[in-house]
Amino acid sequence: MSEMIADLKAFLAESTTPFHAVQEMANRLNKADFQFLDEADSWEVKQGGRYYTTRNDSSIVAWVMPEKGTLDESGLRMVGAHTDSPCLKVKPQPDIHRHNYCQLGVEVYGGVLLNPWFDRDLSMAGRVSFLDASGDLKHGLVDFKKPMAIIPSLAIHLDREANKNRTINAQTDLPVILGQSEEKLDFRQVLLEQLKTECDESIDEILDYEISLYDTQAPAEMGMNGEFLTSARLDNLLSCYMGLDALITAESKQGALLVCNDHEEVGSMSAAGAQGPMLSQVLERLIPDNEKRVRMYARSMMISADNAHGIHPNYSDKHDANHGPIINAGPVIKINANQRYASNSETASLFRKLAREVEVPVQAFVVRSDMACGSTIGPITAAELGVKTLDIGVPQFAMHSIREMAGVKDIEALTKVLSLFFGLQSV
Ligand code: ZN
Repeated sequence: MSEMIADLKAFLAESTTPFHAVQEMANRLNKADFQFLDEADSWEVKQGGRYYTTRNDSSIVAWVMPEKGTLDESGLRMVGAHTDSPCLKVKPQPDIHRHNYCQLGVEVYGGVLLNPWFDRDLSMAGRVSFLDASGDLKHGLVDFKKPMAIIPSLAIHLDREANKNRTINAQTDLPVILGQSEEKLDFRQVLLEQLKTECDESIDEILDYEISLYDTQAPAEMGMNGEFLTSARLDNLLSCYMGLDALITAESKQGALLVCNDHEEVGSMSAAGAQGPMLSQVLERLIPDNEKRVRMYARSMMISADNAHGIHPNYSDKHDANHGPIINAGPVIKINANQRYASNSETASLFRKLAREVEVPVQAFVVRSDMACGSTIGPITAAELGVKTLDIGVPQFAMHSIREMAGVKDIEALTKVLSLFFGLQSV
């Protein structure tokens, strides 16, 4: 097993929510001598310095300043990804008590493939806001880590049509079972007890929370030769991991930056999302002069990294026959004439050239002309900053399922190309 895949599995297992993903990325950046800059403070940024900042605890920007000269001369090599994944979130007043079962009502976050959420050993994690003993408002993260919730399927005997077109009513079919009790549960009390085990503060009362459910099955290498990686949240923690690994290890003498935004799965329109001003505000602080900043954009490039749909052998007709990426056959350039992806021939050709230098094969994806195309933070960031952009990603199966699948070789290959990109003299 490669060291990198072992490390990636640890990253995925820790990153159960966008909050935990950002915490894990911050830990890794701290270890690599990146300095945290609070958005609320004034910043002092030095040549050759390594920095990061966060917003909402769920989005992060990390960057390396050029060793010589200024950013408007060197430009920035940027990689973008997203920290969020479709999931189920606990409602604000979630407690349901029926037939002595304690249940929680859940909300669907993003485009969840719902069927695979049944019969899984689920746990819960997220951010909690509480009052401490002196009445101060504080925030902390919790992760129960143990299996403690489940959505059992209805037996086929009670639904003979289940294998035909099984539809799921998100309001009535998804409340999770937490356990049994004579009395109605108080979910805030459950959270309070958990928070006490995870945080040193004195905790008086839970006021609010953002808690999601996740699968406790650990990420795994699988396949006859361990050629696949299976896990939850591969879309898009894989790209966060690859971008972070490349930024930390790249021989970057010029400016390099990684942005990982929350809320991509729900349209990116939020204070911490790609359609919000986080990245542009960071860049305004690095280069306050407007004319210099525009010059910097003109010398910069963004690679938006988000997974692509591999061609599924059982459903081959869902792809254009000439544009069906194969898992483990290399990263995929995503192209859409209608700008659902931001790639153009200039950015795509640079990527092809870099990949060739490190002997990485490249594939291309175009959606079938009779089907609608997905999108990424690529076009949003390109439009927001006016910077040339490329959309790429590793091919995967089962996107937005609770268990997704990608190829081990592709992950190593794309990281190599991103490292080379971060080290470029000019783009
Ligand atoms: Zn994605």
